[in-house]
Amino acid sequence: MSVETQKETLGFQTEVKQLLHLMIHSLYSNKEIFLRELISNASDAVDKLRFEALSKPELLEGGAELKIRVSFDKDAKTVTLEDNGIGMSREEAITHLGTIAKSGTADFMKHLSGDQKKDSHLIGQFGVGFYSAFIVADKVDVFSRRAGDAASEGVHWSSKGEGDFEVATVEKAERGTRIVLHLKSGEDEFADGWRLRNIIKKYSDHIALPIELPKEVAAVEGEEQPAVEWETVNRASALWTRPRTEVKDEEYQEFYKHVAHDFENPLSWSHNKVEGKLEYSSLLYVPARAPFDLYQREAPKGLKLYVQRVFVMDQAESFLPLYLRFIKGVVDSNDLSLNVSREILQKDPIIDSMKSALTKRVLDMLEKLAKNEPEQYKSFWKNFGQVMKEGPAEDFANKEKIAGLLRFASTNGDEGEQVVGLAEYLARAKEGQDKIYYLTGETYAQVKNSPHLEVFRKKGIEVLLLTDRIDEWLMSYLSDFDGKSFVDVARGDLDLGNLDSEEDKKAAQEVAKSKEGLVERLKTALGDSVAEVRVSHRLTDSPAILAIGEQDLGMQMRQILEASGQKVPESKPIFEFNPAHPLIEKLDNEQSDERFGDLSHILFDQAALAAGDSLKDPAAYVRRLNKLLVELSV
Ligand code: ADP
Repeated sequence: MSVETQKETLGFQTEVKQLLHLMIHSLYSNKEIFLRELISNASDAVDKLRFEALSKPELLEGGAELKIRVSFDKDAKTVTLEDNGIGMSREEAITHLGTIAKSGTADFMKHLSGDQKKDSHLIGQFGVGFYSAFIVADKVDVFSRRAGDAASEGVHWSSKGEGDFEVATVEKAERGTRIVLHLKSGEDEFADGWRLRNIIKKYSDHIALPIELPKEVAAVEGEEQPAVEWETVNRASALWTRPRTEVKDEEYQEFYKHVAHDFENPLSWSHNKVEGKLEYSSLLYVPARAPFDLYQREAPKGLKLYVQRVFVMDQAESFLPLYLRFIKGVVDSNDLSLNVSREILQKDPIIDSMKSALTKRVLDMLEKLAKNEPEQYKSFWKNFGQVMKEGPAEDFANKEKIAGLLRFASTNGDEGEQVVGLAEYLARAKEGQDKIYYLTGETYAQVKNSPHLEVFRKKGIEVLLLTDRIDEWLMSYLSDFDGKSFVDVARGDLDLGNLDSEEDKKAAQEVAKSKEGLVERLKTALGDSVAEVRVSHRLTDSPAILAIGEQDLGMQMRQILEASGQKVPESKPIFEFNPAHPLIEKLDNEQSDERFGDLSHILFDQAALAAGDSLKDPAAYVRRLNKLLVELSV
């Protein structure tokens, strides 16, 4: 062993300690994945070297045969992985292996419940990576040297996976990383050629560079142990270059775990080769679960970009729109130059046409999933529905396609689950219904019982119930679907078109006429609080309702704007009353102007409360109501 200098002991970042603890205690039923994770890292390191060497061939230091070697020592109970990739400097080893750089990690850790079963699912959202070594090892030694650095600038990182790790500067002749796992007692089954070979075949066959194991040579008694011969155990070709028909589902799944740093299988994938004016291959995956940082601005997004099989960059975000940021995978282009940069990608017209083709591929894949595997699609929607709702605003060209993928809760049951698609809604619409009706609000419980739905319930018309924060904003970008326009049932003067019979309409007109006097009295009583007063034809049970003006902002949008500190234009509601309601009849017959005023204001405030709004002057409401109650009881 060479001399170690500048030895120091450093503590792991708190989050690393938590992750280590969780990993060791929750992944015991699937220990062998440590090898997959370490091989995946080694492969990434080789990809990085290959790319950097394009502009700096000296980094290869004469050794251009890139590979990963896995060996073991039964007596010493060790498993060793060695790659000749980019390697790490001392500083890099300290940061990469001592901290977690992902933004939002601390928040994520707060979600851990301590319940190992639940938490082991969470870890899937997070990815496991290097620290999975500690599932099977009670000590891990990492020897590394960054390509291009002097042999004397190697680093030895060592840890028992407890609170801290040691680093020292060492001599390392070859570039790259060697990881030595000192197996825990009881885990020595991994120091075995057959076992390692099987694990590699199972999880890492798709890795594009050779993974070598020592050839098993029977020792001949009396003879000296022969020099180690190595043999490649994986297929060692880029998976996406192979024809679709030759790739097994399991291979697609394992490859996904490698590119996405995910722990679970993907929900779906789409593998394509494009030839002609542009030439590229793409392999796109829909993850099964939203990553913990889906809504963080700086969170990683985008595809892995290769140019003619050479890895060029991670998270190339120019190939997909932002609302598809959860898609993982690779794109391998024959047209781009190897020294392409993020800045160039943003301007290149080739990228634009690739982006629209890839976007379409993803949307097609989702359509297929929705059609063929509705249960899977439900789960997709639960995880990514909110992000998909950003689509219509961002991607005008695909608005109709995206709209077809949206799912909503509706008055048709399912307790608020977002499962109704627009095509399904229209397929079961009433005869003569040429609109798509929806209602937005704060919570499902609130909209479900909204008085705005009374007439729809009576007529048996389905209404979509939209309660996500983003919904009102989303609807401002959707005007129609399949030729049918969207109608907010809380907005404007509800016109049910063909759904109202001629008699209904006539009767409504007559009632309206007979109540003109009451309308005028109410206008005077409510004064400034309302934009308009009118007879309602959407109520059956409630006495009154507040409708939003055709052009006014709804409650959600107002709240979003207010929360972001913007000035929100004042808008007044329209007061609609139900002429058939006993309270309204009472009001109509009220002689005292004072009592008429009190009762009108109470009805107005109640309508606001039923809409989930807050009262401007709650004390006045209580005072008026109590006054009436006292009068009632004498
Ligand atoms: P992730 O791979 O998700 O970033 P890991 O915990 O697996 O997280 O690894 C942390 C970092 O350590 C990697 O991003 C990489 O920079 C570095 N690293 C890990 N293994 C190697 C290796 N074999 N060669 C070079 N760098 C490595």
